[in-house]
Amino acid sequence: MARSPDVSPAGRRILARLRTLGPFLEGSFTVSTKRCGRPTCRCATEGPLHETALLTWKEAQKTHTLYIPQAWRETVAAWVEEGKRLKQLSHAMSVAQRQFLIARRRQHAR
Ligand SMILES: [Zn+2]
Repeated sequence: MARSPDVSPAGRRILARLRTLGPFLEGSFTVSTKRCGRPTCRCATEGPLHETALLTWKEAQKTHTLYIPQAWRETVAAWVEEGKRLKQLSHAMSVAQRQFLIARRRQHAR
């Protein structure tokens, strides 16, 4: 006896994309420039300014910040991108499953 499907073709496509996700991280990654404040530093006059890479995220309604060293910037940026993809796919899957339920309810009503 065939098991009744618990996912629509659209949902199946989203699940397939979810399986391709790499390591992910919730939060935002920003690189900003600033002056360090030392009056003798080159940044105080001609520059260039110092770059600071930060990861920020919210936990229990509090914003946290973590400094990301140069060597890790690319990696952490990629994790954050994957985190965004996960969020989009999670939302798309919820939409697909709701539509699936609504379609089935209509079928049973006939
Ligand atoms: Zn400086």
